[in-house]
Amino acid sequence: MKGRGTSILLIYTGGTIGMIENAETGALENFDFDQLRQQVPELQRFAFHIGSCSFDPPIDSSDMDPAIWARLAALIRNNYGRYDGFVVLHGTDTMAYTASALSFMLEGLGKPVILTGSQLPIGVLRTDGKENLLTSIEIAAEREGGRPMVPEVCIFFENHLMRGNRTVKVNAENFNAFRSLNYPPLAEAGIHIKYERQFIRRVAAGTPLRCHTRMATEVAVLKLFPGIREEAVAAVLGIPGLRGLVLETFGAGNAPRQPWLVSRLKAAAGGGVVVVNVTQCGAGAVEMGRYETGRQLIEAGVVCGHDSTTESALAKLMFLLGQDLPPAEVRRLMGVSIAGEITPPEA
Ligand code: ASP
Repeated sequence: MKGRGTSILLIYTGGTIGMIENAETGALENFDFDQLRQQVPELQRFAFHIGSCSFDPPIDSSDMDPAIWARLAALIRNNYGRYDGFVVLHGTDTMAYTASALSFMLEGLGKPVILTGSQLPIGVLRTDGKENLLTSIEIAAEREGGRPMVPEVCIFFENHLMRGNRTVKVNAENFNAFRSLNYPPLAEAGIHIKYERQFIRRVAAGTPLRCHTRMATEVAVLKLFPGIREEAVAAVLGIPGLRGLVLETFGAGNAPRQPWLVSRLKAAAGGGVVVVNVTQCGAGAVEMGRYETGRQLIEAGVVCGHDSTTESALAKLMFLLGQDLPPAEVRRLMGVSIAGEITPPEA
C-alpha cells in the first residue's frame, strides 16, 4: 500500500546509472535529473511525490570516502521529516561499503534507505538501471499497517532486495552483481514484490533517528595468503596511528602458525589496535576455536568477526572507533549485532 501523500527523495551520488553516452566521443558522461526524467518517463507515473537532489559533481563510487558518507547521512537526516523513504543512486563498485557505513551511521532508522545502481548506463537501450530505479522507488514507498515495509539501509539490484551491511559485489559485468551470502534476501521482485517480513529488521516505534557522522580512518585491511612475509604484516601493523585492522583469514578464521605472526598481532592488540578476524570465504563464519590455527589468534587478542563481510567489518570499525570508545568496548561491540550485520552464535 502506498498513500497518495507518500514522498520519496531520490539522491544521485554518481556512478554508471546516471550516465549517458556522448554520441560524438562515445565517452560516458554524467547527466542531471532533468535528463534522468527524460530517460525514465515512467517516473511520472508514480502517484506520489518524488523529490530529487544530486551530488555536484556526481562521483564515481571509487572516490567515495567517509567524509562523503557523512554528507550523505546528514542529507538523509536533514530530510528525514519531509520524506517517507530514500533512494540513493550510487556506483556499484563501493556500494556495499556505503550501505554498510550508512547502516551504522543512521542509528534508529525507521524509514527505507534503498541504494541502487546499474551495470549499464540508464541512457543505453539494454540498461538494467531503469528496472533497478523503478523497483527501488516502489520498495521505498511501500507501507504496511501504517509503517514503512522495509525500514533498513538496503541494496536493491536485479530483483533482489538485500540488507545493505550483508551485501557484497560479486560480479563486475553481470546484471546480477550483488549477493547477500550470509543473510536471506529481504524481498524478491518478480511479477509481485514478495517481502520476507521475518527477515526485515525494525526498530521500536518512536525510536528517534540519531545520525553519526564521525568515522575513524586509522584502519586497514590485511588479507593473508600462503607465504605472507613478516615484513608485510609488520608494515601494516606499523602504520602510524593505526587503531583498527580487519584481518582476512582462511576458512573458519585460520592463519599460518608462524610464531612471529602471533607475537606481532599480540603486540598490536596489546597496544590498543582492534584486530577483527573475518573469513576470505564468501559465505560462512569465523570460528576461531575450531582449529589450532584459529585458536592461536584468540590468544593474540584478535576479535571474532563472525559472519561479517569485510566491507561491513571495516565500516563498523570506522564507526565504533569514530565514537572514541575505549578499545575494550569496541572489541565487545564488534561481537554484537548493532544493525543486523552479524549473526553471533547463540550464547
Ligand atoms: N565505476 C562505477 C562506480 O562504481 C561503476 C558503476 O557504477 O557500476 O561508480
